[in-house]
Amino acid sequence: MKQSMSLIPTLKETPADAEIKSHIYLLRAGFMRQNASGVYSFLPLGKRVLAKIENIVREEMDRAGAAEVLMSALQPAELWQESGRWYSYGPELMRLKDRHERDFALGATHEEMITTLVRDEIKSYKRLPLTVYQIQSKFRDEKRPRFGLLRGREFLMKDAYSFHAEASSLDDTYERMKDAYSAIFSRCGLNFRAVLADSGAIGGKDNHEFMVLSEIGEDTIAYSDSSDFAANIEMAPVIDQYEKSYEAPLELEKKETPNQKTIEEVSQFFQLDASKCIKSLLFKTGEEFVLVLVRGDHEVNDVKLNHLLDGQETELATPEEVKELLGTSIGSLGPIGVKQVKIIADHAVKYIVNGVCGANEDGYHFINVNPERDFSETEYQDIRLIQEGDPSPDSLGTIKFAKGIEVGHVFKLGTIYSEKLNAAFLDENGKSKPMIMGCYGIGVSRLVAAIAEQFSDEKGLLWPDAVAPYQIHLIAVNPKEEAQSRLADELYSQLQSLGYEVLYDDRQERPGVKFADSDLFGIPVRLTVGKQASDGIIEWKERKNGEMKEVKVEALTEELASRFKK
Ligand code: ATP
Ligand code: MG
Repeated sequence: MKQSMSLIPTLKETPADAEIKSHIYLLRAGFMRQNASGVYSFLPLGKRVLAKIENIVREEMDRAGAAEVLMSALQPAELWQESGRWYSYGPELMRLKDRHERDFALGATHEEMITTLVRDEIKSYKRLPLTVYQIQSKFRDEKRPRFGLLRGREFLMKDAYSFHAEASSLDDTYERMKDAYSAIFSRCGLNFRAVLADSGAIGGKDNHEFMVLSEIGEDTIAYSDSSDFAANIEMAPVIDQYEKSYEAPLELEKKETPNQKTIEEVSQFFQLDASKCIKSLLFKTGEEFVLVLVRGDHEVNDVKLNHLLDGQETELATPEEVKELLGTSIGSLGPIGVKQVKIIADHAVKYIVNGVCGANEDGYHFINVNPERDFSETEYQDIRLIQEGDPSPDSLGTIKFAKGIEVGHVFKLGTIYSEKLNAAFLDENGKSKPMIMGCYGIGVSRLVAAIAEQFSDEKGLLWPDAVAPYQIHLIAVNPKEEAQSRLADELYSQLQSLGYEVLYDDRQERPGVKFADSDLFGIPVRLTVGKQASDGIIEWKERKNGEMKEVKVEALTEELASRFKK
């Protein structure tokens, strides 16, 4: 493509409200433009990157045995009413009416559409399993659209859905999809992790998010420094493996602690490490209360607590409720002598020797606390957030934290949608059963930004070969010079006929402008035809590491072939 014929409007300045590298560069390099908050148009360079990613996704989905479909984005409200999500999805679902006042939604996701489609077409176990996918624009009226393509209100998603007669068949497809996802993100050149995610009320361990490691990510990942363990921090189990102290247990004593309320204050007051102080928190679930204990240097993990309490929503009790139930203010709350509520303590608490806890009397704490000797009946569980430095849950290595951008999600749905939407099949014995389902999403447009986020420098973008808009950026430094324009024109047609993707800067611009634009675009190889054109010499620059060399025209095709492994 000749640059003079394309639409690549570059910007010198950082556009207002673009805060992160990918957003800034995708706008400055003219890959896209914003139409409304969270709504973007892709210009030629951006469209090419998007198409490259789409192709990778398509190839791997086809290889995994999924069949491509394209469902309508416009979805009748009745489907969403049938599943109940018309009422529960909230304002993220974009709703509209047709001329007959009939309600529609713009597809935020397609479980309802595909489940009813498959329900109407498939009646027998003989036609299962089935996996279908599509690559299509999704609409979500996000509360805070931001970071450009990372959180849009209209964005491109690959969504796949699988249908099964048996749970084991879903297991197979789930693994195949996970492998396909790893292949896709590897081919995009990304540094990513498959991370165990929270399934909320549905439960189960088969729910993984694929996270691209990046400082600007919204999620925190706990990963092992020596194995492939990785989980959303909320989901990471902590193993019950603490050092035992050989200190001799001393006699329990109640001490006056005026105005000492927080762990920090109490640990300073007694000159004791926070790990020897016991943090007591009263939680409320429905009408029940539960006293939760963790070590002073640990934090309660709400997700684990919710799971332990049968997935019920939990919240901290108010100071009034604490006073009424246990007769103390929050700063002196503790477990000793407590019979009126259930006590759940984190495993680590059990190992404390001669610790400190509140005495359930304002201004008093106990010292020389030894949980197994002094507490009322206590259930020990894993209820804390994992921390950096903890042993990895698979016992291989140590936990580290990283931030991640969610680019994909694979999830076992089970029969939630098939039951609500009546998608049943007849098994071998003629018995009707709900289909078992899985769903698998990839943020295709989010990937453009995630890749840009991982691959850029102070001058612009640095696309990995597999997703670069072009392979070669050919520049004629001064097209007015006959020798230069002739050689550049020749190379342009020759390289194209050899099958290379070439962007040719044939514009009448200053060289400085051309080079700066070229750095912004991030095309892997830059070939510059300049003063030495008449000697048949051109300059080759690798965008990634800035390495330059002079190449004789006769040697060019061979060098390119080895560079691009053609
Ligand atoms: P998030 O937690 O980031 O909002 P989600 O859990 O709502 O994501 P899914 O419903 O699982 O996302 O959608 C599948 C994929 O679509 C996500 O993994 C993500 O890559 C992408 N995606 C979701 N919401 C957006 C958005 N607003 N803009 C761009 N991509 C998105
Ligand atoms: Mg979301």
